[in-house]
Amino acid sequence: MPDNYQIILLGLFLAILMFYVLIRFWPKTGKMGINTKSVICPECGLKAPMIRKPRNLRQVLWGGWTCAGCGCEFDKYGNEANT
Ligand SMILES: [Zn+2]
Repeated sequence: MPDNYQIILLGLFLAILMFYVLIRFWPKTGKMGINTKSVICPECGLKAPMIRKPRNLRQVLWGGWTCAGCGCEFDKYGNEANT
């Protein structure tokens, strides 16, 4: 057993702890948030597709959809995007 065995174990433990904290406290709102709920269009109520095809740079960076039904743009939380 190497001398630094306990250091490696401690490092591994800290890494797992950091990962858990990151997942646990990752914001559910804001630009960096992750929304796992399904989103519907604020204008016509059409459900956004799970597979997202970004139409512009903002959608590539921050998520969001252009509605296939009415063409309105909305973000990943289903709020209408003001462009
Ligand atoms: Zn729509």
